[in-house]
Amino acid sequence: MSLKILITGAAGFIGSNLCEYFVSMGHDVLGLDNLSTGSLSNIEGLRLKDNFNFLKGDIRDIETCRKAVLNRDYVLHQAALGSVPRSINDPITSNDVNVGGFLNMLVACKDAGVKKMVYAASSSTYGDSKALPKVEERIGKPLSPYAITKYVNELYADVFYKTYGLNTIGLRYFNVFGRRQDPNGAYAAVIPLFTKQLMNKQSPTINGDGTYSRDFTYIDNVIQANEKAMLTVHPEAVNSIFNIAYGERTDLKMLVDLLKMSLSKYDKSILNIEVIYGPVREGDVPHSLASIDKAKRILNYQPQFNLRDGLDEAVDWYWSHL
Ligand code: NAD
Repeated sequence: MSLKILITGAAGFIGSNLCEYFVSMGHDVLGLDNLSTGSLSNIEGLRLKDNFNFLKGDIRDIETCRKAVLNRDYVLHQAALGSVPRSINDPITSNDVNVGGFLNMLVACKDAGVKKMVYAASSSTYGDSKALPKVEERIGKPLSPYAITKYVNELYADVFYKTYGLNTIGLRYFNVFGRRQDPNGAYAAVIPLFTKQLMNKQSPTINGDGTYSRDFTYIDNVIQANEKAMLTVHPEAVNSIFNIAYGERTDLKMLVDLLKMSLSKYDKSILNIEVIYGPVREGDVPHSLASIDKAKRILNYQPQFNLRDGLDEAVDWYWSHL
């Protein structure tokens, strides 16, 4: 059955991958994006498809949100300003988009009678909690303005369920990577940034001594989680939050080694590139590892790509696209 789905942040990394997948499944997909960090080139291939439409607009404008959700069954809300450093440099804009825009989307979904809004939450919500692995119920204090915005999303979603009965599911993504993630700009994520640097024979700079670790999650696992969250009718999934990750952690030093190994199939000399170590970044959490038990149990989430397999696919994509 063809569903009517709105995907916000459609021209960004995760949003464009969701659009591509749900269009390929034959659903009627509308993408919304203001192109602030995303790019039309990410959805170039989709614009000729009959079951894809694109609306250029800003979630800070409630009328744009209302127009976008009209007659939509489901909303996959990805639009936000990502990056901890960006939010430290400009907390007001991050808050306007991530909190004000999110609230607009909730109001628009509620008023239009959308069946469910699945939204991008974040592992940054664990903040200063040192517990590993991270379980959904146990969070610490936020370490950045970005983390606050993502936590506030969860609080608003909860209140909208309790007050208005709006059905939402929050997916706390852990360091997502894969095709089309932007390697450029001051706020690039480590995997695309390091991949591009290594391809250009430049030394990647690790912030800190390389022992900080992350639960790197390949994009296809995230697509699966969104589909399962959207379609689940499990009673415990209503108004719930799930960690979406692979469930293993890898330190940054190891990450660079894996990237070098993967890229060496194209150019052996990449194996000889040395790493530079820089100062620790403000707001960075030392270690991050998800328990994905809840998503497995309730959503039947089964991540198919571990870090190595995901990196191999991502590297192939960057090699042929950069
Ligand atoms: P991205 O920057 O590639 O995509 C975000 C998209 O939202 C961009 O296309 C941007 O143009 C759009 N956007 C920004 N402000 C907007 C506005 N005011 N109105 C309409 N569109 C707007 O980032 P991404 O990595 O694809 O992240 C998607 C979502 O996942 C975000 O909510 C982010 O916070 C969350 N998230 C990402 C990660 C990760 O590792 N990539 C981890 C945790 C959470």
